[in-house]
Amino acid sequence: MISLSVPLLEAEEKQAVLEVLESRQLAQGEKVRAFEEAFAAFCGTKHAIATSSGTTALQTAILAHGIGPGDEVITTPFTFIASANAILFAGAKPVFVDIDERTYNIDASRIEEALTPRTKAILPVHLFGHPCDMEAIMDIAIRHGLVVIEDACQAHGAMVKGRKVGSFGTGCFSFYPTKNITTAEGGMITTDSDEIADRARLIRNHGQRERYYHEMIGYNFRMTEIQAAIGLVQLNKLERFIAMRRANAAYLTQKLKGVITPLEVPGCRHVYHQYTIRVPNSRDQLANYLRERGIATGVYYPLPVHKQRAYQCLGYADHLPVAEAVSREVLALPVHPALTREDLDRIIEGVNSLWS
Ligand SMILES: *Cc1c(COP(=O)(O)O)cnc(C)c1O
Repeated sequence: MISLSVPLLEAEEKQAVLEVLESRQLAQGEKVRAFEEAFAAFCGTKHAIATSSGTTALQTAILAHGIGPGDEVITTPFTFIASANAILFAGAKPVFVDIDERTYNIDASRIEEALTPRTKAILPVHLFGHPCDMEAIMDIAIRHGLVVIEDACQAHGAMVKGRKVGSFGTGCFSFYPTKNITTAEGGMITTDSDEIADRARLIRNHGQRERYYHEMIGYNFRMTEIQAAIGLVQLNKLERFIAMRRANAAYLTQKLKGVITPLEVPGCRHVYHQYTIRVPNSRDQLANYLRERGIATGVYYPLPVHKQRAYQCLGYADHLPVAEAVSREVLALPVHPALTREDLDRIIEGVNSLWS
């Protein structure tokens, strides 16, 4: 079976984990600090704050900006549910704006019509590794005095005009095993603001600057030294992984027939966390056909967030036609760095032969 994703761990990661175990320093310490410094340098931000997951990175970032009950946060309905849940965890309300069908990201031209006096922030998600229209989003945010929190959980290293995602607003990243780099579980917040970084560090660690003196009510959202040690090794490989994903994507796009292939907007660097095609009318048929031929595929996401059962008690009656239509047509094909040329040819032959 050609798998949809595999964490790429080698002898170096094993060695790094063993060194931490032997050091007996397991909880947040020097390795976490080193990983934060390296990640901030990678993103081009002043600070990076490591967390226990991408979800807790989002929750911490939202709380650090003082967003809470009575506030609205504009986001996309076409994402992993954690993007919207993090807004709810802070006591605020997610407001969904439909997506651009070419990039699958929030449609920036529709954000202003969703603004109310309660709107505090915009939370764009760089879905599948393609950056959102950050020029338009930052322009709206500046004109209306809004905070921007970027869900970059799928987009480590994605860029707009040479600038990394996570450096426009407050960035949130995940290192879950399926992401482009992993720490098993883990997350990171990026920011240039001393104040947001300071608040995020307090929220992450029970509100303590000094041990057992608590300035605020916080959480335990810390990363371990084991995770950070893996992350330091993985971060060194990220540019290589991105180059391989991009080469695989370019090859697929050149050869696939009869499907809508992903777009890379000029000036953007797509990092292809997922290579998502659209297959109007026959998505499930193609998925089954490929499974029979030993090729795994994925549907991200079959149901937009506002349509989830968990959200019905919140009274969402929105009709967001683009997100709803796209969720019935998307199919992710394998694009990860462990694929061989032979694997790619099998995927291409599989897709193209369905139509002939
Ligand atoms: C993975 C992911 C998250 C959550 O990250 P975890 O590390 O799994 O908590 C949030 N948003 C998006 C878009 C993701 O893909």
